[in-house]
Amino acid sequence: MAVFSGCTIHDGVQEKLCRMLRVFSEMRVFAKACYPFVAVRRLLILAIALLTFVGVVTASAKTVQERRAERLLRLQKISSASSASFASSASSNTSTINKQTSRFAIPLLVYHHIRPTTGYDKATWSWKMSVSPKVFDVQMQWLDDHQYTPITLDTFVKIARREMQGPVKPIVITFDDSHSSQYDVAFPVLKKHGFTTVFYVITKTLDVAGALSRVQVQEMSAAGMDMESHTAKHQVLTKLPQNEMDWELAESKRVLEGLTGKPVRHIAYPATTQNALVRERTSAAGYVTGTLMDPRRATEKDDLLRIPRIMMTDDTDLKKILP
Ligand SMILES: [Zn+2]
Repeated sequence: MAVFSGCTIHDGVQEKLCRMLRVFSEMRVFAKACYPFVAVRRLLILAIALLTFVGVVTASAKTVQERRAERLLRLQKISSASSASFASSASSNTSTINKQTSRFAIPLLVYHHIRPTTGYDKATWSWKMSVSPKVFDVQMQWLDDHQYTPITLDTFVKIARREMQGPVKPIVITFDDSHSSQYDVAFPVLKKHGFTTVFYVITKTLDVAGALSRVQVQEMSAAGMDMESHTAKHQVLTKLPQNEMDWELAESKRVLEGLTGKPVRHIAYPATTQNALVRERTSAAGYVTGTLMDPRRATEKDDLLRIPRIMMTDDTDLKKILP
């Protein structure tokens, strides 16, 4: 009992764990008193240890749900508080609003493959466009430990338009090219942390081997992930005649909206290539943002149709790139 008497209660989960450990400790003392035979006693203690382990795993699962709920609550509170302060300030003092919400620097990260990087030379795109599962796990844990809040692009737009203030440490995590490893490896890790992230999907590769399937896209969307467009065929838009460009933009939006039942308002330009015409057609097709690869944080000065994103590799040091 003495082992657990110093247990400090910080929150609900820890309290449950402490109570559980105390009960098992008492059972262990009881077992010692009742069974003088060493072998029987050891078996009983082993069974108690196993039950404790199962209890700890169950408690951890609850932690994930609680973390997600806490994040959502924090975002809702910030959203409603910002809307209220925005509305009241708008009628009285507009300059205060600008002072409070006009500056931001939000990092957007971009991942491609989540796969082992061993065997690839660091100079190749195969290496640069991969993050190994272990490193990905560590990076997500680091963001969670340092209280970053992954936000959707709709939330990003609200912050950029000064419609809400956003959480203290907002970040946008995105995935390009709809590789199947994003479902197989990344999705379970993201769910574990209660993170909402953005998946840019190439719709013509849906159900192709190595790419996300329609069912996976629907499952991820239902789990709260943001499924957005990476065009239909991943063609470089600047090289296409306008009718084909328009088709790429409209077709991917149509397919994804049909699959998820949610509006698709965001696009990542294939090969990070765009120009004034592409941006104009993107906006005309109903998109609000377009993202690039450019290793810096997005600020209020950035055009919503040219938002920079930081490409992630095994060597990326989050401490260096994040505020
Ligand atoms: Zn791509």
